[in-house]
Amino acid sequence: MPLPCIYDLSLADLQSALQEMGEPPFRARQIRQNLFRRLIDDPERMTDLPAGLRAELGRAFTFRPLEVERQAVSADKQTRKFLFRLPDGAPVETVLMLYERRRTACISTQSGCAVGCAFCATGQMGFRRSLTGGEIAAQVLSLARMLEAKGDDLSNVVLMGMGEPFLNYDAVLSAVQVLSAEDGFGFGARRMTISTVGVVPGIRRFTGEHSQVNLAISLHAADDELRSRLIPINRTYPLAVVFEACDEYIRETNRRISFEWAMIEGVNDSAAQAHHLADRIRKSLHKPLVHINLLPLNRTRTYKGGPSQAARIESFRSILAEEGLACTVRLARGVDIAAGCGQLAGAAEK
Ligand code: SAH
Ligand code: SF4
Repeated sequence: MPLPCIYDLSLADLQSALQEMGEPPFRARQIRQNLFRRLIDDPERMTDLPAGLRAELGRAFTFRPLEVERQAVSADKQTRKFLFRLPDGAPVETVLMLYERRRTACISTQSGCAVGCAFCATGQMGFRRSLTGGEIAAQVLSLARMLEAKGDDLSNVVLMGMGEPFLNYDAVLSAVQVLSAEDGFGFGARRMTISTVGVVPGIRRFTGEHSQVNLAISLHAADDELRSRLIPINRTYPLAVVFEACDEYIRETNRRISFEWAMIEGVNDSAAQAHHLADRIRKSLHKPLVHINLLPLNRTRTYKGGPSQAARIESFRSILAEEGLACTVRLARGVDIAAGCGQLAGAAEK
């Protein structure tokens, strides 16, 4: 049995663990300072703790739940991808993207994914298990530690790696909580984004949180026939239901939603799809507080489709712009190192 992960303990959990060790509860805050602010992942280096406690902590908990198995750096050095192993051998991918002044961590919420989207490498590898909140947060701390060594720090965190966040709701919320908490990592919630494939009960629950964390929905198609072919869970939560949940979110929180759209040549990049999307937004959302992100598809092993041509993406974008919708064309990042979600672990599993 692997030791429990120290990052999974709340302040109260840590306090009671300390009590059992015969230590005063104020040590809990000290330990959290060491973990989340000083980014120390070895109890022996927590020099403000007594030596006996350091040793005992090391025997009771794992401080390094993520073992780096492989790394890949893109030719332009702007994208760095890590394949981690959890203590039970489950693979986890984490990507660091540098872009101008942005340092974005793209983190995973599950090892693999059960949703099985046709174009997604994680979907193609299947589902292994959900990550714990501590394992999700630890990915951010790992990248923050690497950047800190170079005098740099993270500017954004996106939960867009492996897995479906809203099929692991509690762990995801506890991770964003400890990452944003003042007595945790202290990272602004507004600089984090959760991306969901459209798990409606999760969107509804998240609406009720009134969280400052941003919400992105992976849309990729504007009609149910096409979307169900790409994203099987659309049969459970069809577009009308997803849009209803989005409308509720916008009305209740007055916050913007991002719609993600991977441009697949000849599949979802037609003028008709762009008009269809604009119609849906106009008809279903009382206040179209949306931003559409278009990005060329990353090729994956078993999906036949490829990225749309730049001209095609541009005409799609201009239709949306004419419809008065905010829309950004994103760059394909780290294509040479297969930095798309699940691509590195998928290859390692093979
Ligand atoms: N499960 C969540 C979050 C992880 S996937 C979700 O689906 O939203 C993060 C994003 O990567 C999603 O928008 C997903 O549709 C997109 N994606 C997956 N495979 C891709 C590929 N091959 N090319 C481009 N985007 C991809
Ligand atoms: Fe899962 Fe998201 Fe990949 Fe679909 S796109 S298989 S939901 S990780």
